[in-house]
Formats: sequence, structure tokens, C-alpha cells
Amino acid sequence: MTPDRNEALASAIKSYCSEIGRDPLLVQGPGGNVSWKEGPTLWVKASGTWLAHANEMEIFIPVDLQTLQQRIEEQDYSANASVLADTKQRPSIETMLHALMPHRIAVHLHAIDVLVQLVLTDAQDRFTRQLADRSDWVFVGYNKPGAELAAAVHNALCANPGANIVFLKNHGIVLGGESIDDIRGLLTRTLDELQTFAPRTSEAVPAPVPEHELTKLGYAPSKDPCIHALSCDPSQTARLRESWALYPDHVVFLGAKPSIWPPARKLSLQDQPLGERSPYIFVPGIGTYEFEHATPAQKEQMRCYSDVISRLSPDHATDTLSTSDIANLLDWDAEKFRQGKN
Ligand SMILES: [Zn+2]
Repeated sequence: MTPDRNEALASAIKSYCSEIGRDPLLVQGPGGNVSWKEGPTLWVKASGTWLAHANEMEIFIPVDLQTLQQRIEEQDYSANASVLADTKQRPSIETMLHALMPHRIAVHLHAIDVLVQLVLTDAQDRFTRQLADRSDWVFVGYNKPGAELAAAVHNALCANPGANIVFLKNHGIVLGGESIDDIRGLLTRTLDELQTFAPRTSEAVPAPVPEHELTKLGYAPSKDPCIHALSCDPSQTARLRESWALYPDHVVFLGAKPSIWPPARKLSLQDQPLGERSPYIFVPGIGTYEFEHATPAQKEQMRCYSDVISRLSPDHATDTLSTSDIANLLDWDAEKFRQGKN
């Protein structure tokens, strides 16, 4: 039987989710997740659902919080949560992370203005400098989402129990608070105190070539000038080649490597079978082409990447995920499930 809940609280949280879910600088497609604790129950976003849809459909499912907390005490972060409702939905892959946050409400975001610094090699030093007068935050190195990430965050929070914001290297942030007002204030203050990286406009980018032969394979020029700029602004194209795998959702939704089509390449017979097509093909100097079956989640992720890349200047050094990090992400059943839903 589904546990009872405080509907006023649920409704305030859903409204907030719907608000931030529609801001592509905070949430991209099914990325990010939110939870709240009510007695023995954790209400957490279902895997593959979009925060933006929180007011139109039920995106939260109840799971048994007490069992998860027992597991956390035993330092077992791999336990599956028991769902306390008759539903086919699965709880977010980050359910354990939500369960171990000591706050009533937890919000995990891939906020662009923070993400752009989290992918930098000197990310931790930057936060230490910028937030020098605050002791309410912790920084955690890159870990595969799921049990490994939960273990690392738990260790960091045990070392600094007063923290209510966690910076996750090459990934995002987790905010904790007792109310939505707490979360809203914490996010605003943090974004205000961190340096802002303005997107570099690429006015010189030529219009995409509409009659490119990729159109014979089901591709059309991207209508988004920022995504188009990834192929036509040479400094962004250099990033695309060198710094593709910057954070987990990008790899999960858009693959391990970019598909770059040399400008002089012609279609050959082996290009004819439809097979498995990349959602995007980049033709340097010509344009970015989007596959007709690219999913809404892939489109949101591509925009997220261009939002990050356009904020970096050529002298910024980035860390990318290693080959084994990428393999771990792509072989992961829970992620395949999430991907299949979008
Ligand atoms: Zn995440």
C-alpha cells in the first residue's frame, strides 16, 4: 500500500521541480533528481522521468528509507531500495545518495554554471578560493553514479556533518535543506558567489549546409545555433575532439566518442544501412547534423554540452572521464534502463 504523505509539502516540492526542470541551465531532460523524507519513507524521483513534468504526472515513488539507512550504517551502498507502491517505475539510480543526505529535502542538479567549473582540472582549488568564508560545502572526486558515488559522498559528509552542498567533480551538485526555501536560498547564494563563465557568442558561424549528403542518412542540420557552433567554431571543435566525455549523462545519452565526419568525405556503400546511427554528426566547418530519431533526452544533453563548451576558453584545462569510467557507465544495466525510457 502506498504510504500517506503531506500533500502540501509534496505539492510545494513538485512546483519547485517543475520550475527548475524547465531551466536548461539547471536541469537537462531526465537528468537531476529530487527527494524528500517523510517518516520511514523516502519519496524519490523515478528513473527516466523529467523534473519538468512534476506537475503533470507523478514522477515520485515511495521507497523504504529505514532499510536504506540501516545499509548505510553498515557501509553497504549497493542495496536496492524496496518500492512501497504498486508501480513499474524504478527509483532513481541515485536513491542511496538521497537516503544518506541528512536533510529532509535533497536536490541533485547538473547546473551549467557549476558544471563548467567541475570539469576543470583545478576545480577543487577554484571552489576553495571562491567559497573561502563558507564551511557548509564538501568536494568529492569523480565516482561512477550509484553505489560508488554514494560511498564517496557519505565519507565526505561524515567528515563535515555541517555541509549542505556537495560538489561532485565532473558531474554536478547535491543540495540539502529542511524546506524548499532553504534549497532555493542555498542555490541562489552559491550561484551568486561562484564566478560566472559567460557563453562566448560565435557570430561568425556560417549557416548550416542544408543539402549535405548526410541528409540521405536521415540527418538534418541542427536548428540550434549553439549546437551548430560546435562544428563551426574552431575552438569549440577542438574541445569536441579532446574533451567529449566530461560528465556521466553526456556519455550515457550521446555515447563514448563524438561522430566527426571529415568535410571532404563522400557517402560510401557501407554508410547505406541504417544500423545504429549517432544522434549527432559533426562536420567541421560545415555544421552539426541531427539524426531524425534523436530522442528528446539526447537533444537536451547536446544542448547541455554546447552550454558547457561555449563557456570554456582555450586556456582552460579540463579533466575527461577515463576509458574505464566510460566503459563502466555504458555497461551499466540501470543506465541502459534509464536510456531506454527516453
Ligand atoms: Zn547526476
